[in-house]
Amino acid sequence: MDGEDLRLAVYRAFAGTGRAPDTGELAAQFGVGASEVTAGLAELAQGRHLALGGQGQILMAHPFSAVPLGFSVMGARTLWWGGCAWDSFALPHLLSDEDDVLVATRCPACGRPHAWNVSRHHPPDGGQAAHFLVPAARMWDDVVHTCAHQRLFCSGDCVDAWLAATGSARGYVMDLATLWRPAAHWYDGRLEHGYVRREPSQAASYLRGVGLAGSFWGL
Ligand SMILES: [Zn+2]
Ligand SMILES: [Zn+2]
Repeated sequence: MDGEDLRLAVYRAFAGTGRAPDTGELAAQFGVGASEVTAGLAELAQGRHLALGGQGQILMAHPFSAVPLGFSVMGARTLWWGGCAWDSFALPHLLSDEDDVLVATRCPACGRPHAWNVSRHHPPDGGQAAHFLVPAARMWDDVVHTCAHQRLFCSGDCVDAWLAATGSARGYVMDLATLWRPAAHWYDGRLEHGYVRREPSQAASYLRGVGLAGSFWGL
């Protein structure tokens, strides 16, 4: 079983069904034993293609998530957990069968519901504010925690209220268009065979090219 074939099987299952395949399904698909799948998934996690839970189960294959992190993403026939704010805005760019998706969340500060039609053509309207807590250099220390703290708030005032209430240091605040632009092509190629992660220098130039700046991003 080739590692890239396994990666693609996980991504295609997420894209098609909204959920992660389990080890048994993958073993049956490839005609191999469960232990071979488990080892293959661990190797993909090592390469930061997946995030696994304590039992080796798939938690995330960015931008897809098997666990709720504050966002739902509704397509014409399929419902996904959205991962973080960035991942939720990225999904319509990866799901070419969907014209747009409905991204919904609650403001972490005040609980107000928010929803946007998000397409790959232009940023959604709205005056809400995105706040990312964990700086880029530490995002993979615990990537599920990182994604759980990349959220959308009513406004900068609700970001401030949440930071005060949780005793958190301010991370990076963006408007919806500034969030949508980097999300648009960050995950390009993940549903195709032969995907290669960007080198750090390529990642930096991508982020600069979409208008991000500063030490939070390592730029
Ligand atoms: Zn709020
Ligand atoms: Zn994320």
